[in-house]
Amino acid sequence: MIIDGKKLSEKLIEEIKTEIIKIKKKGKTLSLAVILIGEYAPSLIYVKNKEKKAKEAGINSKIIRYPSDVSEKIILNKINELNKDDQITGILVQLPLPKHIDKEKIINSILPTKDVDGFHPINVGNLSSGSKSIVPCTPLGCLILIKSVEKNLSGKHAVILGRSNLNGKPMAQLLLKENCTVTILHSKTKNLKDECKRADILVAAVGVNRIVKGDWVKKDAIIIDVGINKVDGKLVGDVDFDSLQKTAKAITPVPGGVGPMTIACLLKNTVECYKINDI
Ligand code: NAP
Repeated sequence: MIIDGKKLSEKLIEEIKTEIIKIKKKGKTLSLAVILIGEYAPSLIYVKNKEKKAKEAGINSKIIRYPSDVSEKIILNKINELNKDDQITGILVQLPLPKHIDKEKIINSILPTKDVDGFHPINVGNLSSGSKSIVPCTPLGCLILIKSVEKNLSGKHAVILGRSNLNGKPMAQLLLKENCTVTILHSKTKNLKDECKRADILVAAVGVNRIVKGDWVKKDAIIIDVGINKVDGKLVGDVDFDSLQKTAKAITPVPGGVGPMTIACLLKNTVECYKINDI
């Protein structure tokens, strides 16, 4: 089975739209502020897509652009201003940032209740302690994709390839919460193949062109491919889709798998932030 991330994300966006209509009936609006620094081509595309989908769902989207040599202080002042602005529901700073800007300082300055990306240490801590939190969009989307195949994940062996703060670590926390037994692999892991073979659920988030080969995953596993790699002008994932689609229980394609779900989850998180701030 191929997991159709586009279709599932459209279904989620429809649910979000219904929620937003209800919120608007109360005379309230949702606004997402996106800070974009520089001209990095993939960031320009991501931000444009995010804006388009937010508008379609009924969320006001405000892109605040700065040149790549903008000072850190200007960005921190802007975030402070957006934190205090009651009209702003969520704040997103598009990564990566220019080298002279301290990523951690920027993330830490966003109010946790407006942190639609779920990167603030308070949200990270809440997720790891199992408390309610804003969850990073990509792993949240991956979990929805996994659960579209199998609702009860209890006792499954989940293997996560990659340990970034953005993907691997929050993915591990989410699957742990689902009562999976979780193994995290990274660049220093010995024998990746054997570790991957133990997976009932495999999430690959490394950014290495088709690192997961056809004989690395046991039959009937659920495979989620987060990777985005450009090869000869084409987008491919971290998983050898062509050989694994025959043996996997379910697998996400690249493109059309995790990507659309990530954007849908950004909209979901914006609604979450609205609910938290509305209390
Ligand atoms: P990242 O911060 O670069 O982290 C990559 C992780 O993979 C690290 O933990 C690294 O290990 C591990 N790794 C790298 N090479 C490896 C190897 N040869 N063997 C084993 N482990 C290896 O990347 P990221 O931000 O998590 O992103 C991962 C991929 O997902 C990228 O292709 C990115 O473009 C994509 N992505 C997609 C979406 C989406 O919506 N579809 C969203 C975000 C990211 P160490 O920790 O030991 O260095």
